[in-house]
Amino acid sequence: MELLQVKHVIKIYNTRLGAQQCTALAGVSFSVSEGEFVAIMGASGSGKTTLLNIIASLDKPTSGEVFLEGKSLKTIKDRELSAFRRDNLGFVFQDFNLLDNFSVRDNILLPLVLAKTPLAQMEERLIPVASMLGLLPLLNKFPHEISGGEKQRTAVARAVITKPRLILADEPTGALDSKSSINLLEIFDGLNDSGQTILMVTHSSMAASYASRVIFIKDGEL
Ligand code: ADP
Ligand code: MG
Repeated sequence: MELLQVKHVIKIYNTRLGAQQCTALAGVSFSVSEGEFVAIMGASGSGKTTLLNIIASLDKPTSGEVFLEGKSLKTIKDRELSAFRRDNLGFVFQDFNLLDNFSVRDNILLPLVLAKTPLAQMEERLIPVASMLGLLPLLNKFPHEISGGEKQRTAVARAVITKPRLILADEPTGALDSKSSINLLEIFDGLNDSGQTILMVTHSSMAASYASRVIFIKDGEL
């Protein structure tokens, strides 16, 4: 089954009060099946982040449509979008996006807290996820006390703790050294082996080589 369908998506940014236009996506169509690990690879400025933001419903396309499990994102009301994102998507970013004043444990649990999950259930989910990602000894530390690789593993734990339908990753190895990059990509590979669908955008061919399918993007076109 197609988990994600992107149909004829165009994104034109208007800059300088509309005096200049930038076509970031020039009609993008593709789909991702349940259980796939897909990489979209392209140079800086090719439209990768724009595409992910639209799939994440953080931004709206100028035209075209995105469907998750056959449901058009257009049909979701603005006030329901954050709950929709929280229930269906997990995010991993280049710069981790952890909360500095939250411990590793609280960063991981944040989406469950926002979803008002009962405390006992949070603990039940936390332990296997933290264990799988080698984070058990770090749960009481704060982001400034751990390495880049450990921060990104915390971000992955936060992404998977809600059991999302789809993980979206934007240059997840962009701020990591090569050893931590390989470690992270092997984690993605393992998650995918256990059935997790992943869509990752990257400019790194090494990162893309871990995916089961690679799509190339250039100047907003696949
Ligand atoms: P990538 O993630 O592949 O580096 P982006 O999606 O960030 O590419 O950018 C694609 C193009 O859209 C670039 O030319 C960029 O300058 C432009 N762009 C991105 N965001 C904006 C914005 N908010 N306003 C205007 N132009 C933008
Ligand atoms: Mg980008």
